[in-house]
Amino acid sequence: MKGLAERYAQVRDALPPGVTLVAVSKKRTVEEIRALYDLGHRDFGENYAQELRAKQPLLPLDIRWHFIGHLQRSNVRHIVPIAHLIHGIDGAELLDEVEKRAAALGRPAQVLLQVHIAREETKHGLSEAESREVAAAWAGGRWPHVRLRGLMGMATNTADKGQVAREFEGLAALHAALRSTLGPAGTDFGTLSMGMSGDLAQALAAGSTLVRVGTAIFGERD
Ligand SMILES: *Cc1c(COP(=O)(O)O)cnc(C)c1O
Repeated sequence: MKGLAERYAQVRDALPPGVTLVAVSKKRTVEEIRALYDLGHRDFGENYAQELRAKQPLLPLDIRWHFIGHLQRSNVRHIVPIAHLIHGIDGAELLDEVEKRAAALGRPAQVLLQVHIAREETKHGLSEAESREVAAAWAGGRWPHVRLRGLMGMATNTADKGQVAREFEGLAALHAALRSTLGPAGTDFGTLSMGMSGDLAQALAAGSTLVRVGTAIFGERD
């Protein structure tokens, strides 16, 4: 079996320049995260608020934590102070809460809107129309302590690569459209978070700027 350093290098070296690699460390130990940190990696992704809160104080402060799971309102106050980027924003009410916490901290929170692009009903996210509404409200100044940095999406879990490619292409098109309607406010709206171990190739082909990879770096999760 290949070691962590080899798997990490393989994933990293296959990415086009300018694409951010977030190592998804959910269900990984602090020691495993530390090993990747020691290889020079700084961007890590966690899905569960409790797990992130438990690990964060045990690890170096210069790690950029990406919150990639479903964020509950009750957890916003714990996550805003720790997260470099919150990927899973799926409602205006959640942004109201993020705004409140970021304002209290006196610094902006960086977020992505999660768009529902998969066929599965279980995956969270906004519709295209809702994404447009939230982006317009943000551009109108509703959340002054929030920086809207782009979109995030998860494709259907299917062997049909064409289906996955179409879903990612749809998200990329929405990202481009929103960016142009945002005008000057859209200059920082450059992030398109899509692609994981199983659908990396399709995501990159569709223009992903940030990939979230767990298994291909750390191995299979229990
Ligand atoms: C678990 C997870 C990933 C990483 O999945 P792998 O298949 O292990 O690469 C990426 N994004 C989200 C939102 C996840 O929950």
